[in-house]
Amino acid sequence: MAERQMGRSTRAVHAGDPPREAGGPVVTPIHQTSTFFSAPGGGGEVRYTRYGNNPTQVALESRMCALEEAEACLAVGSGMAAISTALLACLGAGDHILAADALYGGTRVLLENELSRLGVTSTYVDFQKGGWEDQIQESTRVLLIEIPTNPLLRVPDISSIAEIGHSRGLQVVVDATFATPMNCRPLEHGADLVVHSATKYLGGHSDLTAGIVCGGERLIGEARRRARSFGPALDPHAAWLLERGIKTLAVRMDRHNANGMEVSRWCERHPAIARVNYPGLPTHPDHKIAKDLLNGFGGMMALELRDGAAADSFVNALRLAKMAPSLGGVETLVSEPRFTSHAAMTADERSAAGMPDGFVRFSLGIEDAEDIIADIQQALESGTRESA
Ligand code: PLP
Repeated sequence: MAERQMGRSTRAVHAGDPPREAGGPVVTPIHQTSTFFSAPGGGGEVRYTRYGNNPTQVALESRMCALEEAEACLAVGSGMAAISTALLACLGAGDHILAADALYGGTRVLLENELSRLGVTSTYVDFQKGGWEDQIQESTRVLLIEIPTNPLLRVPDISSIAEIGHSRGLQVVVDATFATPMNCRPLEHGADLVVHSATKYLGGHSDLTAGIVCGGERLIGEARRRARSFGPALDPHAAWLLERGIKTLAVRMDRHNANGMEVSRWCERHPAIARVNYPGLPTHPDHKIAKDLLNGFGGMMALELRDGAAADSFVNALRLAKMAPSLGGVETLVSEPRFTSHAAMTADERSAAGMPDGFVRFSLGIEDAEDIIADIQQALESGTRESA
């Protein structure tokens, strides 16, 4: 009889566990060592933490493989390390990246300022208009997207983009940081590599920096070779913390999904809020595709205040939500992308991209939804009091 596949919550808790043996540890030990004894006279695998084969790193990678249903995984020191290593696994000098125009600001900087110096060019497909097929060049090697996008929460149709890419022999790379494998598994929809900033939901407690790349053996092998030379290794203690965080990913994401829906619905009805960007709302431009692709709509939500000038006082008046640029932790965080991820753009560019002044991003935590709503309500009302 074929062995029954365990559910994803069970895999999050157990995949990659240490072997079950009397006297052995139940939890993966932290191998806080850079180096390991070699076999006398050579032979055998050379273990070295920069090589990514420290047993604590390896245990984490097998847990992620089980969640993404991937052949292979590479864990590295940050989300940006994951993105750059994934791209360098697919690209060489003179190659071209075709990316969605809605991208995390740091990724955009990597493409524009760093990969460009290595002779890699990038152009962007307008999310509204589409047209991936027409913009593929002779030198294009990679199609790059995020699901959902930061901070507008747009949801690309991974399958149709992957189909276009594969018909032209291209690699499709998807940053699924906001979705996590609980809400979407891009490899199931045809992506070649899925990357995560594990600093966010996978770790889940705003206490570590890490990145994950999952995909087929061949491409992950390429990524591993790049990582050995460029050296973005994940520290064993952070690998251990991340593995521990992943064990509760399923229950955390259930709460993030529930809070996302409840808080967004409330915000949508408030007269001081002009727009709520949340893919679970029927008013979101990608709601239909989001319903097909996502198991849950996540904990990220962005608001547009009717009074653009009130954003700073609103954010300052929040008491529960902490102002901080990151996301995906158990605590609610709030940020204004004009000061963080999209600070490099002008106000007009941001407005044209759907982020006018008054645009505020929330990473909704796992607190009680009523408390998050009460906090937003009091902050909106305190703004009204000030201007009265
Ligand atoms: N990808 C997305 C979607 C992000 O939001 C971020 C950071 O905010 C990153 C990648 C980069 O991750 P890290 O800060 O772990 O390098």
